[in-house]
Amino acid sequence: MASQWTSLSLPVRGLAMSATVASQATCEQRAAEGLPVYRFGLGQSPFPVPDAVVAALREHAARKDYLPVEGLPALRAEVSRYLQRRIGVDYPAKGVLVGPGSKELMFLLQVCYYGELVIPTPAWVSYAPQATLVGRWPTLVPPDRPAAWRTTPELLSATCAADPDRPRLLVLNYPNNPTGGTYDADELAALAEVARRYGVVVLSDEIYGELHFEGKHVSISRFYPEGTIVSTGLSKWCGAGGWRLGCFAFPPALDHLRRAMAAVASETYTSTSAPIQCAAVTAFELGPDIEDYLGRARRVLESLMVTIARRLLACGARLELPTGAFYLYPDFSPLAERLAARGITSGDLLAKRLLAETGVMVLPASAFGRPPTELALRIAAVDFDGGRAIADAGAGPLDEAFLDQHCAHVLEGVDRLIDWVANT
Ligand code: PMP
Repeated sequence: MASQWTSLSLPVRGLAMSATVASQATCEQRAAEGLPVYRFGLGQSPFPVPDAVVAALREHAARKDYLPVEGLPALRAEVSRYLQRRIGVDYPAKGVLVGPGSKELMFLLQVCYYGELVIPTPAWVSYAPQATLVGRWPTLVPPDRPAAWRTTPELLSATCAADPDRPRLLVLNYPNNPTGGTYDADELAALAEVARRYGVVVLSDEIYGELHFEGKHVSISRFYPEGTIVSTGLSKWCGAGGWRLGCFAFPPALDHLRRAMAAVASETYTSTSAPIQCAAVTAFELGPDIEDYLGRARRVLESLMVTIARRLLACGARLELPTGAFYLYPDFSPLAERLAARGITSGDLLAKRLLAETGVMVLPASAFGRPPTELALRIAAVDFDGGRAIADAGAGPLDEAFLDQHCAHVLEGVDRLIDWVANT
């Protein structure tokens, strides 16, 4: 009887298997055969959760009751204080919505908001598939120059002018996944002006804000507080992706959206894990230990990412030096002729052949809303022991000797990638 059921073709709504899952299987197979593998595919923080936050989780492990759907009141208040302190904008505690990861909150937002979703590309892998899942087709806005991956006021303005009265949601992510780039205050102010002119709601995905290498992250909410929803969470700066905790902060003018999302949340996940929310209070308090941890994490990342970027530039890739997070998005189109001679004419083929021939796992441009022909890849330089690196990242310079000691596997993978591309 059971086999009869499995042979039925059930009406399933879904998407194709993501590029990460497919390459993961190849990685596992190579590892099982004893071949080298460089895991630069999944964007997971290499750093451990700070001790103080783990201790808080331990302390609250027995909390078992469901919490209010919007989140633990103490956490909402702490996130409000955190945003005031970090980005200098007043988001009231009652405007904070806590969820099981910012990704889930983004999905709820797409369920509830019926305007046009505008996504500058390259963009994080899940924004567009989430829109597709709720039956909508996002507007992807490509950059206007090759390898200058940030969007501009002109591009946003042209998108809005096509139908000025249409409600819109712009997703802006900085420091950016996949490029590692960010916007400076002037660029944000100019984008804010266009958003205000056309009444665009901005979802400001600042999940990597704390990982700005110089600790100088600026939020667009400073220039457009009334129309900006700020998204943050524990996954990246606190190394706690698997804990699943994210937060959105809404300005009073968008409170109807927060309430709509909370209504959907109450019918789906009910509330976010109670012990995790209690531990998150400690994280967002940003005590001296956590500030020290963040300072070390930023220094390690800056040293590593800039070193890799320089090596990639030297091999002929197009690239901007990164300013935050743990990603790079080299564009190998200057080497297109040589790659084509080996039958490599797309980012997908580039990533596939690279993995099969060197064990370096990266994601192709197409995963980030870019044309399949774009010969660009995302490198997530996270395959190292972040705990050891942070412990040893004292006051001294984090030079190549430090990287050779702590991130040798990442550098080896990048060198393999470079040799492979250069010798095509
Ligand atoms: N935004 C960006 C840009 C991301 O890279 C990620 C995770 N990779 C998320 C949102 C989602 O993070 P989480 O659901 O873990 O909060």
